[in-house]
Amino acid sequence: MASGSGIEWTEATWNPSTGCTKVSPGCKNCYAETMSRRLRAMGQPKYRRGFKYVEHPGEVDLPLSWKKPRRIFVNSMSDLFHEDSTTAFTARCFDTMLRADWHTYQVLTKRPDRMAEFSGMFAEVAGCDIPGFVWMGTSVESSEFTYRLDELRRVRCMTRFASFEPLLGPLGRLDLSGIDWAIIGGESGPGHRPVEEEWILGIIDQCKRQKVAVFFKQWGGPRPKSRGRRIRGRTYSAYPRYSKRNPLRGAGLDVERFELVRPGRRRKVPARM
Ligand code: SF4
Repeated sequence: MASGSGIEWTEATWNPSTGCTKVSPGCKNCYAETMSRRLRAMGQPKYRRGFKYVEHPGEVDLPLSWKKPRRIFVNSMSDLFHEDSTTAFTARCFDTMLRADWHTYQVLTKRPDRMAEFSGMFAEVAGCDIPGFVWMGTSVESSEFTYRLDELRRVRCMTRFASFEPLLGPLGRLDLSGIDWAIIGGESGPGHRPVEEEWILGIIDQCKRQKVAVFFKQWGGPRPKSRGRRIRGRTYSAYPRYSKRNPLRGAGLDVERFELVRPGRRRKVPARM
C-alpha cells in the first residue's frame, strides 16, 4: 500500500516486503512487529503471516505510480536485507528505484554486511555504484554495534546514513567518515528505554566536527511526540547533500544478471545485449 508517513524524516513509506527477525537490543520494542500483529488481527491480507518475512511482488512497482517526487522510506515494516530476502527480489526493488528516479529513497538495515554484499553485485551488474538519490543506511543503537558503520562504509553507494535510534547508551568516539547524514532518536512506546541528553549531545558534537548533517528526531517516551524534538533550545532537521544524477536512466537494472554474479557462483558476466 502507498502510504504517507508520520516519521519526521521521510514523506512516504513503501513496503515491498514485510516482517522481520530480531537481531539486536534495538529490536526489542520493534514498531513493525507491533503493527504487523495489529494489521493481521484487522484482517489485512498483506499481514496474514504476521511478522514473518514475506516478499510482495505485486508491490514492487508502486513508486512508479507516484508522480509527485517524494522522499520514500523503503521497508518501514521490514528489512530489505533480511536473511530470507532473495537477491532477485532485492534487485527488482532497486530496478524500480532506478526507473522511478524522481523520488529519493531511504534504505535502512540492521544487516549492513548483506547490504554491502548486494551493493557489490549491483556495481558489477550496473557498472556503477548505487546512485546518490538512493540513500543507504544502517542502525546503531549502542557502542556494541558501531562496527555496523564500518560495514556501511563497504557499501558501494554515493550517499550513506546512520540511524542512532533507539539510542540505548553512550556511543563514545565515532568514526563518521563516509557518512553523510545522522538520525538520532530516543525510544518511544510501551516499555521505552530512556535516553540521556549527554548521549545525544555527544553524537551531535561529533557530527558537527566531522561535517555530517544531523536530524534529531525525538526524545521519545510513551508516544513519539511525548517530549518533542528540541534539545538545548534547538531543533536539528538537516538532510544530506546528494547527487540526483541517475547514470542508469532509461536502462534500469538487468535483474537476471544478478544470478550470475552471486557470491560463490562468480563467473564472467555476459555483456548486456
Ligand atoms: S531489524 Fe528493524 S524491522 Fe527487523 S526486528 Fe529489528 S527493528 Fe524490527
